[in-house]
Amino acid sequence: MKLRNIITIIILVLLTPRATPSCDVFNGYNQPWPRGSDGLVTIEYCFDNDQIEEKRESVIKTGLETWMEALGGRASPETGHALKFQHQTDYYCSINGQWNPRVPKNTLQLKWLQGPLLGENGGRASVGFIPQSGPNGGNNYIEVSPNAIVELLVHEIGHVLGMGHEHQRADRDKYVKYQCDKVEGYQKAVTCAAGLVALDCEFMGHAYVVNNRPYPPFNIRSDDYDLTNDDQSVMHYGSPEFAAGPCNPEAPDGCPLLKYKNPNRHEGGYETFLQVDTPSDLDVEWVKQTYPYMPPPPGVRNP
Ligand SMILES: [Zn+2]
Repeated sequence: MKLRNIITIIILVLLTPRATPSCDVFNGYNQPWPRGSDGLVTIEYCFDNDQIEEKRESVIKTGLETWMEALGGRASPETGHALKFQHQTDYYCSINGQWNPRVPKNTLQLKWLQGPLLGENGGRASVGFIPQSGPNGGNNYIEVSPNAIVELLVHEIGHVLGMGHEHQRADRDKYVKYQCDKVEGYQKAVTCAAGLVALDCEFMGHAYVVNNRPYPPFNIRSDDYDLTNDDQSVMHYGSPEFAAGPCNPEAPDGCPLLKYKNPNRHEGGYETFLQVDTPSDLDVEWVKQTYPYMPPPPGVRNP
């Protein structure tokens, strides 16, 4: 399957042929993960094959544990959330490159990163739960590169839970300065775009597009909260992400993203910032509001 077809599950960005390429078209869909008959929201996951299990199991499991620790522990009235991650240990997701028919199609698939776009350290994930009945039937996944680190996994798990990028909030321009011409691939995209999909030009600008449309059937974080931009969120890129050239406190003008020192007075200047590696208080709050704990029905025990 072409890279473009895979990614259109979440995003479809058009660079229209104007003098200045557009940075503000965004499209997608997602749902919250469903609640089981035991009252829990169990996300079953499988490794695509033995190689990814062997090479990346510890990083993936540490990413899941980081989330559970941030949530205060397993689902309970005390922690206030209903989430449970469960490894499908009996089978791999795939057999000879085809989906294993013994694995439910909705299972979260942990697989190698497809395509060259995100490089040797990158990854990506489906956003929220993709139901089997939808247009991309049950395609729930996290793709990781051979060098993926825990920080990346924590971010991708945030996507799987249904979170969009914090820096794509509709109000982000009040808090951060985005410079699309500092994103790697921009120059190539400008010359090759002319009416084509940006991803064909290997341009990562789609990951910075402001989301000003509600996501049916539930809204992502940016629409749920009337709060200040949370630069401590695991869903907020840091300044150097996808920078084409040098980006650091001494060279801030080379950064795709910068944080205004005072959101109400942009003349006060801006500064660089880094992506965090553990969920923020507001990340945790979002999860607890989206997946609140509910007691099991009479006669059913939560494990
Ligand atoms: Zn992301």
